[in-house]
Amino acid sequence: MRLILLGPPGAGKGTQAQRLVQKYGIVQLSTGEMLRAAVAAQTPVGLQAKDIMASGSLVPDEIVIGIISDRLDQPDMKNGFILDGFPRTVPQAAALDDLLKKKHIKLDAVIELRVNESALLNRVETRVAEMQARGEEVRIDDTPEVLSKRLASYRSMTEPLIHYYSERRKLATVDGMMTIEQVTREINRILAAVGAVEPRAVPARKARGAARRTARPAGKKAAKTAKKAVKQARKAAKPASKASKGAKKVGKTAGRKAASPVRGRGAGTAKKATKKAVRKAAKKVTKKRAKR
Ligand code: ADP
Repeated sequence: MRLILLGPPGAGKGTQAQRLVQKYGIVQLSTGEMLRAAVAAQTPVGLQAKDIMASGSLVPDEIVIGIISDRLDQPDMKNGFILDGFPRTVPQAAALDDLLKKKHIKLDAVIELRVNESALLNRVETRVAEMQARGEEVRIDDTPEVLSKRLASYRSMTEPLIHYYSERRKLATVDGMMTIEQVTREINRILAAVGAVEPRAVPARKARGAARRTARPAGKKAAKTAKKAVKQARKAAKPASKASKGAKKVGKTAGRKAASPVRGRGAGTAKKATKKAVRKAAKKVTKKRAKR
């Protein structure tokens, strides 16, 4: 699974990334974490990034692109990865496209966690309080002043990526105001819909049984069925998203909402159709498994 999590500071990218790491055994690549490690180790990159990060601005593209490029070459990347905090600008996204192409890696999805800005300060304050309570070192940029600068950077530099990935039909949006559990469920649903994972989590015992039946690997089959279901759902949803395009206000949100078949909101019919088709596919697979 190769995934990008997109969203402003405090949207919950780190929390969700951690859950995906646990569930799928993939690697989380957080450029923020990598840069903080470089600052702590006082490497040349760290020395360059330190003041920029403290002020809430973005570190130059070349630096983060270099870090990610090196990291993607490591052997632990082979199971997949979640990019959290990268790309953060359109040039970074374009550089990532080139890198992935060169390395023959396909991106499964970009998931945007959308949250009300008014909730972000509160969330970051809670995070700070929790870190303090655990006796951990609090991030130097987790102050109300720097947070508003980070938000401004997000709006001007990172938000255009929503359009970038929506145009490339990679974007799915999840309502980040839901509970952590609900957000996780929605992310898993999207991952199943794009064929990045099985449509429904298989209980460990069953999964082991399926693994033993090497002649017909359940994982591949389920993914194939889900992919087929998504294709059908997309086909069914086409007229609906066209109609909603016309009905929506002119502007960035309208364009964004109608642009992608895997969006969590916007093309409501598309969502329902995808959900239904995926559920149907999952049922089919479960039934077949039960028969075996
Ligand atoms: P946030 O919670 O604000 O998303 P991160 O931990 O992802 O924070 O990043 C912290 C800081 O590290 C950013 O404000 C920025 O200075 C720097 N940084 C992280 N990732 C990138 C990137 N892809 N491009 C430029 N700067 C970055």
